[in-house]
Amino acid sequence: MSAVISTDICIIGAGPVGLFAVFEAGLLKLRCHVVDALPQPGGQLSEIYPKKPIYDIPSYPEILAGDLIDNLMKQIEPFHPTFTLGERVERFARLDDGSFQLYTTDGTEIQCKAVAIAGGLGSFEPRKPAVESLERFEGGKGVHYMVRDPEHFRDKKIVIAGGGDSALDWTNFLANVASEVTLVHRGTTFRGAADSAEKVKTLHEAGKIKLVLSSNVTHLHGDDTLQQVTITGNNGEAETVPLDAFVPLFGLTPKLGPIGDWNLDLTDDAIVVNTEDYSTSLPGVYAIGDINTYPGKLKLILCGFHEAALMCQGAFKYIYPDKKYTLKYTTVNGAPTM
Ligand code: FAD
Repeated sequence: MSAVISTDICIIGAGPVGLFAVFEAGLLKLRCHVVDALPQPGGQLSEIYPKKPIYDIPSYPEILAGDLIDNLMKQIEPFHPTFTLGERVERFARLDDGSFQLYTTDGTEIQCKAVAIAGGLGSFEPRKPAVESLERFEGGKGVHYMVRDPEHFRDKKIVIAGGGDSALDWTNFLANVASEVTLVHRGTTFRGAADSAEKVKTLHEAGKIKLVLSSNVTHLHGDDTLQQVTITGNNGEAETVPLDAFVPLFGLTPKLGPIGDWNLDLTDDAIVVNTEDYSTSLPGVYAIGDINTYPGKLKLILCGFHEAALMCQGAFKYIYPDKKYTLKYTTVNGAPTM
């Protein structure tokens, strides 16, 4: 069980909108803790289209999605936000004094004065392959749907399954970390980037990884923890290999997940907000970015940035009802600090 984290605003979702909210909150001297189910910040931009150029961010005629996230991370540095990544917020409770307690899948507890839900399309859930007894070995027993920390696999024998960017990238990366990496792919050609596929082939030819094509992992074996997997070829031939970890990387799909159970007003899986401050039906809880809905809503990063600014003003008033805030331009106040 992790220690309790205490902050002013807990932001659920480290997509572009959640990250920019840290900046706007920082200008108001509000501290933020950001939680995301994914192991890296950036939401859809990092997970779905990091190498795609975006053309409608003001003052950037063109910027790669991944670079936009890098810039946002740099922009919020002066405010020292803290992060819990790779954990999903499961539930929260509003206390009698109007503050909140949030709990993640891994038992992290966050105490905060306001909550900003910037959950986008929901949390990304792994696409699981249809392998019997997969679930028996989840939760630290040998099956990992994401690589949260590559060091976890140091000197371990691992089998990765998949043919997209994630499977290729992690195979290439973990070849230098794990003691043995086997990549199993059901086809003969990869969906991921051609240069990553090329690297995998080069590593295979150099004997640094094993590559098993036209095959699937079909069975998992072990008592308390995973010990072996059976790899079956499309021709029916099977072999059972010992391993420490099985990493199926078949992509992630967004699901509204637990947010749907938090008793907030919803329409079509989006949280209904008041556009004055992006407050939800529960006082002290705000929703910004793709996750909210209101008349005229546009699911655009630009709109999410605007919502983040107004949300922080609302959260400030909620946290400090007696304090007066006067808007000051950043050009007047100088470089932002906390
Ligand atoms: P997201 O980016 O979806 O991030 C939300 C985060 O919340 C996710 O990382 C998720 O894991 C996390 N989360 C959700 N629930 C939980 C939970 N319970 N616990 C922990 N974490 C949780 N927009 C533009 O403006 N211009 C474009 O050119 C453009 N191009 C696009 C191209 C593609 C291919 C796609 C898919 C989208 C594009 N968009 C574009 C839309 C843009 O990506 C979204 O508007 C933007 O990502 C919304 O940001 P967000 O921060 O609200 O949510």
